[in-house]
Amino acid sequence: MSTAPPPAARAETLALAAERYGTPAYVYDLDRVRAHADHLTRTLPGVQIRYSVKANPNAAICRAVAERGLGAEVSSAGEFATAVQVGFRPEQIMVSGPYKEPALLARLASMPGTLISVDSLSELAQLATGTDVSVPRRVVLRLRPDYPAAGDMCVGPSMRFGIPIDDIEQAVPLLEGGGVRCVGFHVYAGSQILDAAEAAGQLNSAHELVTRAAKTLNLTPEVINLGGGFGVPYRAGDGELDLAPIAATLRDLAAASPGAQLILELGRYLVADAGWYLTRVVHQQSFAGRPAVVVDGGIHHRPDLCGLELAHQAAPPLLLGPVRNGTHGTQPTAVLGCLCLPWDILADAATLPALHTGDVLAFATAGAYGLSAAPTAFLGHRLPAEVIIDGDAIDTLAAVQPTADPAGAP
Ligand SMILES: *Cc1c(COP(=O)(O)O)cnc(C)c1O
Repeated sequence: MSTAPPPAARAETLALAAERYGTPAYVYDLDRVRAHADHLTRTLPGVQIRYSVKANPNAAICRAVAERGLGAEVSSAGEFATAVQVGFRPEQIMVSGPYKEPALLARLASMPGTLISVDSLSELAQLATGTDVSVPRRVVLRLRPDYPAAGDMCVGPSMRFGIPIDDIEQAVPLLEGGGVRCVGFHVYAGSQILDAAEAAGQLNSAHELVTRAAKTLNLTPEVINLGGGFGVPYRAGDGELDLAPIAATLRDLAAASPGAQLILELGRYLVADAGWYLTRVVHQQSFAGRPAVVVDGGIHHRPDLCGLELAHQAAPPLLLGPVRNGTHGTQPTAVLGCLCLPWDILADAATLPALHTGDVLAFATAGAYGLSAAPTAFLGHRLPAEVIIDGDAIDTLAAVQPTADPAGAP
């Protein structure tokens, strides 16, 4: 995935974005998203890749993914509206999650090609007996992994999503109801898996779980969504995920399930390293005996830092702008956010040159689970700009953000 442009060019572009749109800001590079999409398509032929919109619902990003021919995985009426508006075809979209709002179900009633991932037997009963559709809903049953999950933020046997395999037999009478047509299964077992053997092992375990469920229900799956959870390097020393063993595993699984379309749903892998978070030094401080700076951003924009405990581990931010004469050497420096919250720390000991008020820092790998997952209302600071880099163009594209109106026309 070595798609990174030379760092010097990147820093210039980021500095230009900060100058034009101010800080704090998120900057997304669409070419990186496209490169990851193409890499997946090339490396995993025959497998359908669907973009998990919750990783970054920015409309420009979603549109770039749609234009690359990938599908989408959404979990709300708002995400569904985004997906349709940016150009995903209904049959390329899977709707998942524990609750589909009435407005979403109403809209899906006229889109029989869209796949619905059913999270519980209760939801299956609701859909199976629903009288509001003339065409049966096209569903997959989400299965709860009964094996240890890998990666960060695991969704293993102790977790809350999906139908436990021991209960799957109870789906039999519900599937006879006529309101649904079950075409297969959905498994998602965890996020941020960086080890290829582990990722391949998870796909095998998911497929094996699907095979058991299919046998119990006496059903030949047409669709098997094996999840994914592919990770990206965040920490110093993290390597890139090697897709070769994963491709080999998927070839074997496809051969074992002739007639079934294999699907992977990936969020972070497509967008994380396409995003930067820019923030400006506003004050000098000290922290834990180290030099520190206060910046105009904070964890109210970067929940991903907390979820992955990156403040202690991530590579240091890039200092944008001219290297000053007289700035010799680097030292461990704390980057403190602007919130009245003790743990609003973006980096606790990043190796940085001496920083001055006005300096702009660019945190890399900030494209996934950032702004849309952030508690932005806390303390009432203003929202960061979202800046799009598309080739040579830099723009905010704020005007094209779709509304979250689920009833809105595509
Ligand atoms: C969040 C989520 C994803 C995306 O996970 P990544 O680790 O970002 O790829 C995929 N599927 C489901 C069901 C999810 O909840």
